[in-house]
Amino acid sequence: MLTTPERIAFVLLVLICGGLAFSGFRNIVRIVRRGAPADRSDNLAGRFVRALVDVGLQKTVFKARPWVSFFHAFIFFGFSFYLLVNINDILEAFIDGWSTIGGGPIASAFNLFSDLFSVLVLTGMVMLLLRRFVQKPKSLTFNSSVKLHSKVTSGGVRTDSLIVGVFILLHVGSRWLGTALHLAEKGHGDAWLPTASIASIPFRGLPTSTLELGIHTCWWMAMGLIVLFLPYFPRSKHLHLMVAPINLALAKRTPRGELTGVANATEPGAETLTDLPWTQLLDSYACIMCNRCQDACPAHASGTPLSPAALEINKRYYVNEHAAQVAGGGAVANLLDFAITQDAVWSCTSCYACVEVCPVGNEPMMDLIEMRRGMVFEGKMADEVAEVLRNLDEKGNSFGDSARKRARWSKKLDFKIPDARKESVEYLWFVGDFASFDPQSQEVSKAVANLLHEAGVSFGILYEGERSAGNDIRRVGEEGLFDALAQQNAELLEQCEFEKIFTTDPHTFNALKNEYGPYAGAGQFEVVHYSTLLVELLNSGRLPIKAELGGRGTYHDPCFLGRYNGGFDAPREVITASGVELVEMPRNRENSFCCGAGGGRIWMKDHDDVTERPSENRIREALALGDIDFFVVACPKDLTMYRDAVKTSGNEGKIEVVDIVDLLNRAMTGDRSSESNKEAAA
Ligand code: SF4
Ligand code: SF4
Repeated sequence: MLTTPERIAFVLLVLICGGLAFSGFRNIVRIVRRGAPADRSDNLAGRFVRALVDVGLQKTVFKARPWVSFFHAFIFFGFSFYLLVNINDILEAFIDGWSTIGGGPIASAFNLFSDLFSVLVLTGMVMLLLRRFVQKPKSLTFNSSVKLHSKVTSGGVRTDSLIVGVFILLHVGSRWLGTALHLAEKGHGDAWLPTASIASIPFRGLPTSTLELGIHTCWWMAMGLIVLFLPYFPRSKHLHLMVAPINLALAKRTPRGELTGVANATEPGAETLTDLPWTQLLDSYACIMCNRCQDACPAHASGTPLSPAALEINKRYYVNEHAAQVAGGGAVANLLDFAITQDAVWSCTSCYACVEVCPVGNEPMMDLIEMRRGMVFEGKMADEVAEVLRNLDEKGNSFGDSARKRARWSKKLDFKIPDARKESVEYLWFVGDFASFDPQSQEVSKAVANLLHEAGVSFGILYEGERSAGNDIRRVGEEGLFDALAQQNAELLEQCEFEKIFTTDPHTFNALKNEYGPYAGAGQFEVVHYSTLLVELLNSGRLPIKAELGGRGTYHDPCFLGRYNGGFDAPREVITASGVELVEMPRNRENSFCCGAGGGRIWMKDHDDVTERPSENRIREALALGDIDFFVVACPKDLTMYRDAVKTSGNEGKIEVVDIVDLLNRAMTGDRSSESNKEAAA
């Protein structure tokens, strides 16, 4: 189809643009390779097969924003098919007489798909451009205090989106129009090209020379444009097309709740971009700049300067701007200079929502933990964090109380809880700091103890022998202290005789279940959350319900039970067994919204920019359901967080924050008033 001069021009264009693109890709490989080590070499074939299936089904994309994902799917499937279309168009240009129009069944099927996918891609792209440039959703903006690369501030992401969008419209639109002109030249439509046939009608009857000129122009607009776009491709967000499947394939496959250890114990954490593991450098190239992670982030929602999206976007703009220097082994700036502020790093609750929702498998939370590790190692942390770490080091608990006071709450019981260090028990209860020392949570601990005692469960506690399990210490970035605490706990657990461990605290549950593996065989213990134990006891008839409570309740999934460990059903079963109608909040299960206490945030003061705490936001979400009696929790920290939030948001008396065990107790005794409220009043 192309003339000889056109063919020569196209080959030259491919060589020049391909060469420039190659240099861009080579820089990316060199930059990613400068990252710290991370082993993702296990089961490579399985990883890629799974990633391709997930991408093929658009599984990660449909986790959020269903309408946007729907139109994205048009573009994804259409563009995937366009790989074949482009090959066909090259053949058509270089092999005289090559044409699929009027061909056999395979050619006809190809025509039908190319025709329909062209329209779907154009529709999807127009809808996404309208969303970004006409609707302008707030989710694509950032809190004013979020640190942004100068090119992002000056509209770089919008410009990139526009370039990519216009490129797709021109590429696909020109190809589709070129097909219509081919049909016009033949003077009739083709049933296998339904939309192009309709588009061909106005052009039929035009002089052949005019149609030929149009066909050649459309070909160059479609294929020449792709080649011209090649050098820009490694710099653009369109790169996600190639990097996202690789990133998804090489994502962390160990349990979510198990943090990767430090790569270099003598200099832990990350100060500069290349201190991050290479997988986290790859993240910046995979990022599609959609801000979905920011939507899910409790820290950003509450008004702080933390945006996981901005972090990835800033990293990307930095490596684009300094590609040659970084790729060539030159100096790399401190992350605090261009990617994020120090107070933003400390605003993270380590809730995992950003990782869960990211369609391309990015892990912005891990960047923050790596940075915290570096800061803690150098003593750069808030005074209140430093004090808690000191308490943990000296007393083994975050409250700074004497270890002897750890089990003081149990003295008010009518029976003595067996000492699991001295006698064999079926269940070893690892109580955790909050459930041991916080006055409100102590009431829940007593209720759990009473209930298990009445059910005849053999259980014991470690008394002053227990230390903090270390979950949040690790997420603050203090690896050394976590290591010491885990070692002490593991050694003690080794000496005890029990069948299972249970705990009421999801943070403790996560650490024991996922992070104690390397310590003295502690990883062999089976650990359950108390909600699971309660369901077992309910099912075996050991917790008889006297009178169903009635009323409507909503349940908050704690991050470290739900999103991290998949513990969604047991707490809900306890609620419904109590006779309370369960009404779900819009953000539930994997999509739950963090209370704001995790990652050590419970020890820190609120950021000055906070407009609404995550816990207050959550109470608002619950109240919006209308006519809700109970806000049900299954985490000691949540009890405090949400009871405070009800007060500070001015909603006292409108909703009651209760633990699952409190509901169960009421249903078992037939007394509708709260045990913990009665204790508090006494
Ligand atoms: S882990 Fe949670 S708080 Fe931290 S950046 Fe991600 S979404 Fe935000
Ligand atoms: S990190 Fe993931 S969710 Fe966040 S902006 Fe980038 S692609 Fe979107």
